Amino acid sequence: MSDVRPLEVFLAQPRGFCAGVVRAIEIVERALEKYGPPVYVRHEIVHNKYVVESLKAKGAIFVEELSEVPPKAVTVFSAHGVARSIEEEAAARGLPVLNATCPLVTKVHNQGKRYTAKGRTLILIGHAGHPEVEGTMGQVPGPVLLVQNLDDVAALTLPSDTPVAYITQTTLSVDDTKDIIAALSKRFSDIQGPDTRDICYATQNRQSAVRAMSKLVDLILVVGANNSSNSNRLREIGTEAGIPSYLISDGSELNPEWLAGKKAVGITAGASAPEVLVDDVIEALRRIVPVTVSVLPGREENIEFVLPAELATA
Ligand code: SF4
Repeated sequence: MSDVRPLEVFLAQPRGFCAGVVRAIEIVERALEKYGPPVYVRHEIVHNKYVVESLKAKGAIFVEELSEVPPKAVTVFSAHGVARSIEEEAAARGLPVLNATCPLVTKVHNQGKRYTAKGRTLILIGHAGHPEVEGTMGQVPGPVLLVQNLDDVAALTLPSDTPVAYITQTTLSVDDTKDIIAALSKRFSDIQGPDTRDICYATQNRQSAVRAMSKLVDLILVVGANNSSNSNRLREIGTEAGIPSYLISDGSELNPEWLAGKKAVGITAGASAPEVLVDDVIEALRRIVPVTVSVLPGREENIEFVLPAELATA
């Protein structure tokens, strides 16, 4: 007779795909249907290997530079957005472009442009080297100062009465940015910024769900890619709550040793991770211990973004 108690598995709600990711993937799929393969995609359409491999199998070709795209080939810009120089390069080469930049990222670009048009020095709160940050810095005319942390704020050499404005990377939540915004507000007497509560609903909702879940579990598994900013942040939030938290791309990366002595495991997924990978992690757990699975209550999301006009009826 076995006295093994099943491991309780709680699924965070919401988790996984956001509306921007759904739209970006659909743009590539519809482009493949409408124009036929190959369709070229600049940068990973979203940061997830499974998604990228699935689209490759349907005929998408992923490149990092537009120079790799042959003349006249249909080209998709990824959900992270691109600098104006990339748009100009595509236009100069006459490439037919479908822009899968998330509308919420475009909104940040527009906020930045409005602030600089009013003569303000723009400060971007974000991670250096992330494609969204490179795109945003390249969309806004004039210099953009990037700050990643409080040390960067302290190192700013602008006079304190300089009219400044800030914008933020979408995969940072209200909680991620509030200390930096407070430090900037202390540093500059004339500062403006957008209402950070509506920068990206998906980032905020997934982070809030992990915080709530961390009160119920003794281990957190975040399903997502290691180059996904929002997935890494979900793992950090679990760790900050004092719960051992691991980022894994699928069930094959589950380490059975993590389960020793654990009674309840929480699973969430980054905005670019499909639900099939969450199922894969649950199956991997089942191969080690019996599990019961329940979905936690959470915020319902019903946001959809429209497709580019040329694909809307494809
Ligand atoms: S996480 Fe937010 S900003 Fe990023 S693609 Fe999803 S909805 Fe858009």
